[in-house]
Amino acid sequence: MSRCDISAEQEAAYHVALQDVLRQAQQLLTNGGSALDAVSLAVDMLEDCPLFNAGHGAVFTHDETHELDASIMDGATLRAGAVACVSRLRRPLRAARAVMEHSEHVLLVAEGAEAFASSLGLELVTPDYFSTEARRVQLHRALASNATVLDHDGAALVFRAAAAGSAPLDENTKFGTVGAVALDAQGNLAAATSTGGMTNKRPGRVGDTPLIGAGTYADNRTAAISCTGTGEMFIRTATAYDICARMAYAGQSLDMAAQEVVMNVLPTLNGRGGLIAVDAQGNLSLPFNTEGMYRGWARVGEILHTAIFR
Ligand code: ASP
Repeated sequence: MSRCDISAEQEAAYHVALQDVLRQAQQLLTNGGSALDAVSLAVDMLEDCPLFNAGHGAVFTHDETHELDASIMDGATLRAGAVACVSRLRRPLRAARAVMEHSEHVLLVAEGAEAFASSLGLELVTPDYFSTEARRVQLHRALASNATVLDHDGAALVFRAAAAGSAPLDENTKFGTVGAVALDAQGNLAAATSTGGMTNKRPGRVGDTPLIGAGTYADNRTAAISCTGTGEMFIRTATAYDICARMAYAGQSLDMAAQEVVMNVLPTLNGRGGLIAVDAQGNLSLPFNTEGMYRGWARVGEILHTAIFR
């Protein structure tokens, strides 16, 4: 994604969407809400927004279907929940949170995840609920060029929004996996990530987003991390956990660890993307090795910030 690929109007729409999410999450934290509730609210809103690659607006698989992944982690307790390959849950992140809070498991997939979530009253939709014309065009372009995937642009938020990246197949596709990380007044950290995955992916493929330690991680002793990018490389380098491990074992600062992983470790495997992170002291880091990443951040009582390019 480069500046010339996005019109001023489109650019403005992303800023407005991100600011809306930030404002509401900031309000929740101002009122004493938890980091877990802040990231849940933020990702809920981003899943509903067709601009981003999660929930309504998710990308298509090779078979022109949708398979969504999501995860959440509570830094205070190291509890985590995730769902993968779901195609009928309107709100994948809520389902991930339900797995964390109402099951003894961490990751449920496909029909099993859908049955579990719907037994708790979470909303089921027909898969076409997720479809948008822009995503269909993106898939058809990918099919025509016989290329696989990689659309990733993220949007995470609260204290930063997601990552976005280049769209190798189609420079007009700047949508994004969404994620949020937050630190609350009690000193608790949380992270959440949700995605439709990568355009033209093989059905059954699971990326980093629902894998704790790869696309999402939170530990009050170090940081909360939410990633976006070429999932396979984030899985192979255990990206989110690697940052926390560098902080814990090597005493690196959040920004040093995050920059090292995004600018040096991932590129050695051709990994593209970025991440949003906040540490236990409230320091932020939002590195990306692509031209842009939709992102936003806010602190209680301060103005909101949103950005797309460097
Ligand atoms: N990381 C996601 C995946 O590989 C894609 C993205 O972030 O856009 O499924």
